[in-house]
Amino acid sequence: MRLTVLAGGIGGSTFLRGLLTARPDAEITVIGNTADDITLFGLRVCPDLDTVMYTLGGGISAERGWGREDETWVIKEELAAYGMEPTWFGLGDRDVATHLVRTQMLDAGYGLAAVTEALCIRWNLPVRLLPMSDDRVETHVVIDDPDSPGSRKAIHFQEYWVRLHAEVTAHQIRAIGQDKAKPAPGVLDAIADCDVLLLPPSNPVVSIGTILGVPGIRDAVRETSAPVIGVSPIIGDGPVRGMADKVLAAIGVESTAAAVARHYGARAAGGVLDGWLIDTTDAAQLQSIAEAGIHAQAVPLWMTDETLTAAIANAALNLAEAVRR
Ligand code: GDP
Ligand code: CA
Repeated sequence: MRLTVLAGGIGGSTFLRGLLTARPDAEITVIGNTADDITLFGLRVCPDLDTVMYTLGGGISAERGWGREDETWVIKEELAAYGMEPTWFGLGDRDVATHLVRTQMLDAGYGLAAVTEALCIRWNLPVRLLPMSDDRVETHVVIDDPDSPGSRKAIHFQEYWVRLHAEVTAHQIRAIGQDKAKPAPGVLDAIADCDVLLLPPSNPVVSIGTILGVPGIRDAVRETSAPVIGVSPIIGDGPVRGMADKVLAAIGVESTAAAVARHYGARAAGGVLDGWLIDTTDAAQLQSIAEAGIHAQAVPLWMTDETLTAAIANAALNLAEAVRR
């Protein structure tokens, strides 16, 4: 079975772990979000790709959910001692090695897809991990400028999330460079040639949204003969963790499972979904999702452990069989 999965960081990789438990023999291609990427101290950092790589490769910090296990922070402390900004980004020593390899290979002329493939060899990754694009795309968030009352400014998504903890109002989300980006080698084929296309409970705006926004990708999702099944990242009226509610508000979408489903839209009506899993506590929304032309089902969606997450992955694959045309 060939499965293709569009993924952000923590939500995407947690789901992938369950999917691997549910279907250990599947051939899985992951198309990762790279709009969180940032250059710090000359190093190219790809947080979502690395979260998938470390999680599925066994190197992730279980406690933090990002970065490396057994991490030390000497480089970060030394940079701070020099008064170097930014100090808010967690650059661990082990993690820095990944960014050094990536940056050196990019500087030598390799594309990000080739670099990612090379990095994944070390981790013996049980999936093929592709960046959405080799081209630079970076999410910026428009906020009120604290230094200039009445005016606004755009900051990098990492500054909004890591430094400001998404505590200031996001007025607008912009994916800089996206209009000129091309899907990375292998991306369109992985969408066209798979048995099921899955959208895990990743952020609908700054993870899945930025992947779909790369010219060519949304059309490929619309046109694939594989069923497209999504899992809601919203349970009740908020995200399970993270800031999906804040960035959904910025694009005018309510934080409910049904509103996110309508935002993605039914493939039959020009959207990207055939099926949508929502949590059992949101079962009252099934009707309105069905009215939007999307096959919906309510199952427990808390990815609390691998068994529960594998059950979610199974439910998504079963829904795919039910909607297969
Ligand atoms: P990020 O890049 O690290 O922010 O991770 P993703 O974009 O892949 O996923 C973030 C989303 O995962 C958040 O919007 C959460 O609502 C969602 N999420 C996290 N844990 C769970 C869970 O246990 N169940 C569900 N349904 N969604 C979750
Ligand atoms: Ca992310």
